[in-house]
Amino acid sequence: MKTTLFFYSGTGNALWTAEKIAVRLESADIDALARRREKVVRPPSPGVGLIFPVHIWGVPPPVLNFIDRLEVAPDQYLFAVAVHAGQVAATLVRLQKHLRARGLFLSSGFSLNLPSNYIPWGGADPPDAQQRKFAAALGKIEAVAGAVRRRECLPVEKGPFWQNGILSLFYRLTLPRVAKMDKSFFADAACSSCGICEKICPARNVRMIDGRPVWQRRCEQCFACLQWCPEEAIQYGRGTRGRKRYHHPEITLARMLAWAPSGKGGGRAGEKA
Ligand code: SF4
Ligand code: SF4
Repeated sequence: MKTTLFFYSGTGNALWTAEKIAVRLESADIDALARRREKVVRPPSPGVGLIFPVHIWGVPPPVLNFIDRLEVAPDQYLFAVAVHAGQVAATLVRLQKHLRARGLFLSSGFSLNLPSNYIPWGGADPPDAQQRKFAAALGKIEAVAGAVRRRECLPVEKGPFWQNGILSLFYRLTLPRVAKMDKSFFADAACSSCGICEKICPARNVRMIDGRPVWQRRCEQCFACLQWCPEEAIQYGRGTRGRKRYHHPEITLARMLAWAPSGKGGGRAGEKA
């Protein structure tokens, strides 16, 4: 039974997850939800997956926007995977409520722990720590794919009580301010005017003006621009200079650009599990 996996990814964790799940299903396509601009999205497949990172302990606004345009029939199987760096909080509970408000039923919601890309709180984990997380994540992905193949309906996964209360409140208070949080981005003297930050931004929020990136105040805080800059020229406030950048080591820049709004798409993941 065919499944379409819609992913949202800034630094490759969610794309990697979508690819790994895809090759474990009988038949699956992946698609970047940031590229789907139509007013109504009607996935033709019997199975539909949403794979996205947890942003500020909640569902990223572009995922909510995508859901508002998504039409899934009652007999289609809808599941989600929330990728996070240790705290899923009530992300999947909120997703479930948002879907329910649209009359959609979330069959299962899984949490997946992968390395953080939130550089304001620190640089990338050491490679061995990253590899431990990837190895554990692959075990979980195997279980997720099995549940999806069997079309299981499971309770959504969530964090402990304190996460769900405090962090969810922080999410709700911060959400309206996310678009303008790009005020802290700037490119330093190392910028080579390559334009990658403009191309890779899923929100088309970076414009090259006179050879320099200019942020447009509709940011989604995915950190793709900063993390993929080949010169490490993009900073966020005063704390990111010299901090180790992160993107998923198996995801290339070319693959990310193929899935970017101006890219050609990537089709089905070609690798084997
Ligand atoms: S990706 Fe980096 S080097 Fe390239 S234009 Fe943007 S800031 Fe400059
Ligand atoms: S400006 Fe940077 S952080 Fe904001 S949405 Fe674009 S790539 Fe992501």
